[in-house]
This record gives sequence, structure tokens and C-alpha cells, in this order.
Amino acid sequence: MDCIFCKIVNGEIPSAKLFENAYCFSFLDINPAAKGHALVVPKEHFETLLDLNDENAIGLIKAVKRVAKGVVLATKADGYNIIMNNRKAAGQEVMHAHFHIIPRFENDALRISPSTKKYGDNELQEYKEKIMKNV
Ligand code: 5GP
Ligand code: ZN
Repeated sequence: MDCIFCKIVNGEIPSAKLFENAYCFSFLDINPAAKGHALVVPKEHFETLLDLNDENAIGLIKAVKRVAKGVVLATKADGYNIIMNNRKAAGQEVMHAHFHIIPRFENDALRISPSTKKYGDNELQEYKEKIMKNV
């Protein structure tokens, strides 16, 4: 399969590897939002979070936590964002599931998620009920 992250996982393309276990592989993002920006991917090719089985999902989030700790300690970050873009509409460019770990610093002026929308009358309750039925 022609997937850049599969190629990184199996060593066909070089990367700045940070961590590896049975499920996951972590490396530095080549085009970082901040220095130390890391990616964590499942070793097996899945497109999005919803395509992972529970075992892989648990393995992945444990690795995210471990690598995030490393990133924060190493960069002396004041905070960190964990981001996952799922599907093209959400900004996913590499169609191999991955978490971003981005170290953040006071006043770094990175804008990750402006929230500007408001619910109309009854809408909050409607969304709550619609989503709950599908969880
Ligand atoms: P997405 O938009 O799919 O959530 O993010 C993909 C990320 O992968 C981007 O931040 C991009 O910089 C990173 N990326 C793309 N190609 C490569 C690569 O060949 N090596 C590394 N280390 N990162 C990559
Ligand atoms: Zn892949």
C-alpha cells in the first residue's frame, strides 16, 4: 500500500523515531507546529480512530500518554495539545490514523481551535439526544 506512515513504520522512509512498541510507532513531525511536535501512529494501517479495534485504541492512547510526557519534559512545555484529524473534512492529509502531540508555551500565539458557534433554541438538547442514541 502506498502509505507514507506505513513506510515510516517499516523503515522504508527514515524518521526521527521517539518510541515503538507492539502496537505503535512515534516520530517527530517533519513540519512541526512547534519544535518537539510528535506523531503517534498504530503500526497496522487503519484510516481513522473509528477503524481501530479496542485493543489497538488502548495501545495507541497509552503510547500517546507516554510520548506526551517525554515531549513535555524535554521541551519544558507549559502545556500540550493532543489532536487527531479524522478524514479529509477534518484536515487529515495522511490517511493512516495518527495523534499529534504539540508542546505549547505561554503566549506562543498558536491558534488550534477557535470556538465561535452557538446553539439555537432546543438545539443543545437535540444534539445531546441524537448523539447519545448513537454512542
Ligand atoms: P494530518 O493533517 O494528516 O493530521 O497530519 C499529517 C502530518 O504528517 C503533518 O503534520 C505533516 O507535517 C506530517 N508528515 C507528512 N509527511 C511526513 C513525513 O514524511 N515524515 C514525517 N516525519 N512527518 C510527515
Ligand atoms: Zn499506512
